[in-house]
Amino acid sequence: MTQTMGGIDIPPVPDGARGPQVPPSGYLVEEIAGGVYWITDGGYQCAFVVGEDEVIAIDAPPSLGGLVTRAIRDVTSKPITHVVYSHYHGDHIGATDQFPADAVRIGQEETRTLLKELDDPARRLPTVTFKDSHRIEVGGQILELHYKGNNHAPGNSFIHLPRQRILMLVDVIYPGWVPFANIAMSKHIPGFMAHHDHALAFDFDTMITGHLTRLGTREDVATQREYMHDIRDAARHALELTPATRDRARDTVGLDHIYTYFKTMYDAASAQAAQPVIEKWAGRLGGVETFAVNHTFIMYQSLRLDLNVRPHVVFFPPTDGSGDHDHEH
Ligand SMILES: [Zn+2]
Repeated sequence: MTQTMGGIDIPPVPDGARGPQVPPSGYLVEEIAGGVYWITDGGYQCAFVVGEDEVIAIDAPPSLGGLVTRAIRDVTSKPITHVVYSHYHGDHIGATDQFPADAVRIGQEETRTLLKELDDPARRLPTVTFKDSHRIEVGGQILELHYKGNNHAPGNSFIHLPRQRILMLVDVIYPGWVPFANIAMSKHIPGFMAHHDHALAFDFDTMITGHLTRLGTREDVATQREYMHDIRDAARHALELTPATRDRARDTVGLDHIYTYFKTMYDAASAQAAQPVIEKWAGRLGGVETFAVNHTFIMYQSLRLDLNVRPHVVFFPPTDGSGDHDHEH
């Protein structure tokens, strides 16, 4: 049942969207397998790997801040000698300055380029970079880094621990939930879509996703893949609905305030096209009621901008009776 609090509707949270309880300390640290640990505050996730004489840290979100080192010290007193960056975003690596300055820092080339440009002392530049892949073999542990092209962000990479059958990919998969707003704030939607298939091509059982409430599985990737394909179908439908919503927008708000006209047209097409997706996924994925219309809008723009999908949106059709120019050939 949808609750209303403070005038805001709150849809039910599906059971599969819940994760482990975070203790009052503000963090949970747990071994997944073979010396690989995840740390969470209930919304963000990072990880570390314990080798024979050292620790390899992966990300440190400011949301957890110094609790990352505290969590590592709950487990081991071995020195942190390596730091791996999933991608350049401050909300995932913005607290990596808590690790020793002389630790080896590893990130994809694009990550280094962006960090250099952004010049943030809290995000030191990677000392080791790679283009397509890089293997870290330290203290009896193996981490394989792979970059499969732009997705949520340029440089956002897979971190695979083949022995433990663990895959880390941040800000792409949201176990139990739909992706965050604007399709996970992705810089490249076609690459974001392709990363579901890239993820499933790895050999793994458990996934560290950077968010939200729990760890992921292969099934979570397949489920989100299906949801995102439904969003793509909805966005195609929104393109088809646009001539009708355009005409309604023109009749309702006129053409003079051009942004109000565009927004009225887009919002109506996205809302109508997203309805079947909301009906299908409500109760299965958390947040579908919150973000499906937004996802449909973002995908609809990606279909236009990235893929040049037909029918083209004609903003100002001729009014002399010759009809939409898109339809005449
Ligand atoms: Zn990010």
